[in-house]
Amino acid sequence: MAKGRRKPRTKAATKTPLRAAILAWEDDPRSGGEPIRRPVPRLGTAPLALAIRGAAVPARLHRRGTREFRYWAAAEALRRAADFWSALLPQDTSWQPGPTLGVVLDAGVDLNAYYDRRELAFFHDTVARTTVYTGESPDVLCHELGHAVLDALRPELWDAMSVEVAAFHEAFGDISALLAGLQLPSLRRAVLSETGGRTGRSSRLSRLAEQLGWALRQTHPGSAEPDCLRNAVNAFFYRAPETLPPSGPSALLTAEPHSFSRVFTGGWFEALAGMLASRTTSPTEADLVEVSLDAGRLLVDAIPAAPIVADYYSQVAAHLIESDTVLFRGRYRDALKSALVRRGILSLRAASTVTRPGAATRARRTRGPAAAGADQTRRLSLSADEFGLEGRVLIVEAPSEARRFEVTAATEDLGSRTPEQDARRFLEYLFRRGRVDVGTHGPVETRIAHPFARKTHELVLQAQDLTLVRRTFDCGFDPVS
Ligand SMILES: [Zn+2]
Repeated sequence: MAKGRRKPRTKAATKTPLRAAILAWEDDPRSGGEPIRRPVPRLGTAPLALAIRGAAVPARLHRRGTREFRYWAAAEALRRAADFWSALLPQDTSWQPGPTLGVVLDAGVDLNAYYDRRELAFFHDTVARTTVYTGESPDVLCHELGHAVLDALRPELWDAMSVEVAAFHEAFGDISALLAGLQLPSLRRAVLSETGGRTGRSSRLSRLAEQLGWALRQTHPGSAEPDCLRNAVNAFFYRAPETLPPSGPSALLTAEPHSFSRVFTGGWFEALAGMLASRTTSPTEADLVEVSLDAGRLLVDAIPAAPIVADYYSQVAAHLIESDTVLFRGRYRDALKSALVRRGILSLRAASTVTRPGAATRARRTRGPAAAGADQTRRLSLSADEFGLEGRVLIVEAPSEARRFEVTAATEDLGSRTPEQDARRFLEYLFRRGRVDVGTHGPVETRIAHPFARKTHELVLQAQDLTLVRRTFDCGFDPVS
């Protein structure tokens, strides 16, 4: 249009054009909410671009229960979580698989979802004559996306042989779902109303993946919590994972990473509620979104600096407290300390060590993979005899980075915990549960293949030795049939 010439004002031009919208779930199809209208998400927006595989679906208000509805509900949830994290991550952060992360919304029949460093995959299954799609639930979608975000932020966690590291990955997935939910004004209002402003109480927000939890309870009673898959409001207190059974019903804390993740998620969620309460006694949804952003900033700052060690939770916790001192001048210190100590993630003594004057400057902070050659010191050779692979040496990555803070969790016997013991215990867990694809390695008579268990790890032959590497973070229940 030529300068100075104005388009004549017509009736249509004065009206605000109707913005294209789609329908989406706020948290989970079984959370009690109804679909809401949302602007059409642009999945391919960089950084953290996403692409749903298969034919695109026209962007409009589709009827609930259709494939088209699920497509846009999934796209909206994934974009919302990716937008939340990309605003906080260091600028050059990219997905491990490359600039765009692929998503398969329905990869077949299963009650499962995974991230495998190539893509996110979701499944469907029919239970009690109801078909459940794991890729329809924002809780499940944003959990899986959380694995990919954490892998981008701290890739060294991927192969670390440690229950606590694997469990932290699961906790971060749940935290990603919680924080993505809090980016919706309608869900913030619903949570404040449901909890009377005391967000540390059980609510639609804290109850994660209600629909998948329901489906799992129908097929394997006891495999999910009574009203959801996992609740961020829980009473689990830290225990050294080697003292816990490898599996068990959801009411018990076990060394299974999803089960053990509930200790960290519970402590973190309590801290989040404390952060909100420390700002105001009558929180509004504006306060809640501010706190959610600050909580995200703390995680993004603390995680790259926290060394990968056997008692990883306590290191992340100490670094969260340090990050709060650096970023917010200790505004949330009491809320963080209180929740993390009450949960046993940090010992009473450790909590005071971190914030002692000068502690942050004394402990030199490095980012990402520590010193050169760190990979070499992390690599550990173990005999594979006891896993049915006689005469072989197994190479694994042990959780043995150098500590910055001499802190521990609230368990007395941690002094005796070495990276090697921790790696061996995680290996025992993986082999016992049949999570390792042993391929054709080892004699048929002694190897234990567990043909029906889902595989999260595999053995790769390098020269004469077998290296154990991760294949996926697999987030469904692990049934035997
Ligand atoms: Zn997971």
